[in-house]
Amino acid sequence: MEKVYLDNASTTAIRPEVISEMAAVMGGIYGNPSSTHSFGRSAKVVLETSRKTIAGLLNAEAREIIFTSGGTEGINLIIRSAVRDLKVQRIITSRIEHHAVLNTALAMNAEYGTAVNFVNLNANGSIDFSHLELLLKEDVPTLVSLMHVNNETGHVLDIAAVGNLCREYKAFFQSDTVQSVGKTGIDLQNLPVDFITASAHKFHGPKGTGFIYIRKNITLHPVIYGGEQEKGVRAGTEAVHQVAGMAKALQLSYQNLEMEQKHISDLKSYLVEKLDACLPGYSINGAGSEPDKLFYNILNVLLPLPEEKTAMILFHLDMKGVAVSRGSACQSGSIKPSHVLKEILNESDIKKPSLRISFSHYNTKQDIDVLVDALKTI
Ligand code: PLP
Repeated sequence: MEKVYLDNASTTAIRPEVISEMAAVMGGIYGNPSSTHSFGRSAKVVLETSRKTIAGLLNAEAREIIFTSGGTEGINLIIRSAVRDLKVQRIITSRIEHHAVLNTALAMNAEYGTAVNFVNLNANGSIDFSHLELLLKEDVPTLVSLMHVNNETGHVLDIAAVGNLCREYKAFFQSDTVQSVGKTGIDLQNLPVDFITASAHKFHGPKGTGFIYIRKNITLHPVIYGGEQEKGVRAGTEAVHQVAGMAKALQLSYQNLEMEQKHISDLKSYLVEKLDACLPGYSINGAGSEPDKLFYNILNVLLPLPEEKTAMILFHLDMKGVAVSRGSACQSGSIKPSHVLKEILNESDIKKPSLRISFSHYNTKQDIDVLVDALKTI
């Protein structure tokens, strides 16, 4: 049976060139980058070259990039340190963030009494900017944490506009850019954000590695204590081969961006055409009147099927060799409705089957045909 992977917002296949790069580093460069001998120095060169590559691709400075184990750790580090070290007393976020943000914000509330304000959402799940401004007008030291691209709906936030508001009201701004780094251009010199987070496995790099960007002149402190690695912000021996793979993956993502973006956008349009023809009555979650504003690699659809089909739909598709998801991967084993869709669907629609279909440049039109044929048999 031919297998079809359409769950690229959960994770992506590693590019072969990235595997070769990692294998070369694993095979030849095993020194500890903190050691001063030649073995250590070679590892340090790999690490610092990777940092420069990543910084260059995002128009940041190398010293603003700190390596982590991935998105969740990066987000925890930023939020926790902002509360503890930057004396933030309030976090403004939204109910459609990833749990890495939501649960960390709630933990800060429990541990430090940090206020957590949820910004209102418009009907399609976009941020209500006037409410955000109203909240920011309260004179409280604040961290705003709002994601760039929503991992379930593909909704895109205008992070420049949010950042400008944050500057005006002197709030720190972190954006969870886990779904956008490597998939769209990000120019950190010209974006008013203080912190972003990225995760290599979302852009065809290895799992278990990522980075945060901390704008220069802002000092964060570690959440796990140990050595002085990563400028004292993130203790622990760096995973040199993973970092080298991540830098290679980001480089290839940006090198091929235009071509891959076009390929994926064409696939998404093809899927929409096929759904229009074969599944009349379906709708695109989070689209409102502007489906074109959703990110090009994610399509979250509410299927015109009865509620009873919800529990079995993923299983059914899996039996046909098709991998998609109902929400974020961390939640997909759960039968609970997605916390994101709960904010944008009514009580009856939230019980019906919705699917998140997410593409990569490895997908083909034939994959879409297999998916739609499988959906027709449900
Ligand atoms: N933020 C978003 C938007 C994500 O999609 C994910 C991954 O699912 C994360 C954070 C967590 O990243 P990681 O899997 O690297 O911990």
